[in-house]
Amino acid sequence: MFLSIKEMELRKIRFDETFAPRELDFTEDEIRQAGPLHAQGTAELLANTDGEVRVRGNLDVQMEAECDRCLGRARFPLNTSFDLFYRPMSFIAREEEVGIDEGEAELGFYEGAGMELEDILHEQILLTMPMQRVCREDCQGICPACGKNRNETPCDCKPASSDSRWDALQGLKDLKTL
Ligand SMILES: [Zn+2]
Ligand SMILES: [Zn+2]
Repeated sequence: MFLSIKEMELRKIRFDETFAPRELDFTEDEIRQAGPLHAQGTAELLANTDGEVRVRGNLDVQMEAECDRCLGRARFPLNTSFDLFYRPMSFIAREEEVGIDEGEAELGFYEGAGMELEDILHEQILLTMPMQRVCREDCQGICPACGKNRNETPCDCKPASSDSRWDALQGLKDLKTL
């Protein structure tokens, strides 16, 4: 859905959109939109500004990623609200002269006639995804020794990779003393 500045000049835009699973493309981000994405909110042109736009709303969606530990499927139900400000690209040149103050670091920019709601949602979803992506809190991960998924097949490999290294050193020592 295109949020048009021209339309905002007349009235505040209200959106209430549902995007089918995988309608938003996250292939480059290595995550997937696993469920429908629902977003609602408003986009308005702020009075007495040089084309500043405020986009407010909330979204909910179920995302999916590879588990950091077992490489299985990890699901992330996201539900977040946002309150964002966008200025026209043409502002940047002038901002440089004035100097952007710290409080405005969150500010985004738009080019031309407006912005795509999908782009805004895409960015918000990426910001909301947790840094650590695990299928469950107690995921046992993949065994570094036998390579089995320990959630499915518990193994009795000992976490002893460092010990074997000591053994090798010990072997060298023995050689020296011979
Ligand atoms: Zn896992
Ligand atoms: Zn093992």
